[in-house]
Amino acid sequence: MQGMDRIGRGRWLRRVWVLLLMSVMQDTALWAQRGLQTGAQNGARVDWRADDPARLAWLEAHGRRVSRTHVVLTVPRDSMHAAHQEALADSLERGLRALHELVQSPRTWQRHGKAAVHIVLAPGRFVSHANGDGTVFIPFSVAARGEAPYLHESAHVLLTAPAPFFVWEHDTPAARQVVGNHTAQWLLEGLPNVLAARAAQAAGLREYNLFATTAAGSVHATCAERTHEAPRAAMREAVGREGMVAGLNGEARGELAPAYYTCAESFVTFLVDQLGLQAVVELAPHMTGDTWRTALERLAAASLEELQALWQKHLEAAARRE
Ligand SMILES: [Zn+2]
Repeated sequence: MQGMDRIGRGRWLRRVWVLLLMSVMQDTALWAQRGLQTGAQNGARVDWRADDPARLAWLEAHGRRVSRTHVVLTVPRDSMHAAHQEALADSLERGLRALHELVQSPRTWQRHGKAAVHIVLAPGRFVSHANGDGTVFIPFSVAARGEAPYLHESAHVLLTAPAPFFVWEHDTPAARQVVGNHTAQWLLEGLPNVLAARAAQAAGLREYNLFATTAAGSVHATCAERTHEAPRAAMREAVGREGMVAGLNGEARGELAPAYYTCAESFVTFLVDQLGLQAVVELAPHMTGDTWRTALERLAAASLEELQALWQKHLEAAARRE
């Protein structure tokens, strides 16, 4: 984001955050699903959200808050010049306004409607995430590197339906299992990417793209290029399916995730081109449950398998053109 580019990098680098530069950026929805998997595998769950109250408490004492209409931005006050924070808040305000226009907020199912998104830059090493309260947590070190997924995480907030929506909001193991078995992981992550890129373009901002999903030109050509061979070819097949993707959060994540998330964005882009952005946004309240497939097939008047086959042809054509 433009405001962030103006931060005096040397100043904060000398501070404690320098210890935290190894932050691994993923995000909340992914992480939520991974927590489910991890729990199933070894009985332990790592919960980045568990520390959110402590982060907010620390910032109550050491943070500085700036408010706009659509965004509230809280940062550690000794780590960012006040003028930089104001500039970043202005940039984020433009980005959030563009996101709301794209999503056409408020929608009946939106948990937060047009309420301001609270973006928190906090010390520590953790995964960037949005919580169910409409707050986005991003490690300060990640933001200072210019790698904050501001609009992607904010899009998660705008696409949050009433609870129970995320896996952790379900009370019973059986209900959580439904989420694990049926979630449209590709839509959950692909749609925020599509919205973030479009909002950034509309608002004249730069949104960091972790997986460089347009590295080969279009997102379609990049997906095709990254899924030519095994084991990454399986990631293209996994996009569009129900449930969690095996292997995505294991040891091979570094190799598989760029392919999977690029292809997820590619498939969502394809659906948006075919069905319209508003129709695809209307799938959002279904995407962590077992009703999205029916809703999508009714909308497209085609089976999921037919849509996937059409998309694959589209991919190959895009790959030949570029
Ligand atoms: Zn995400």
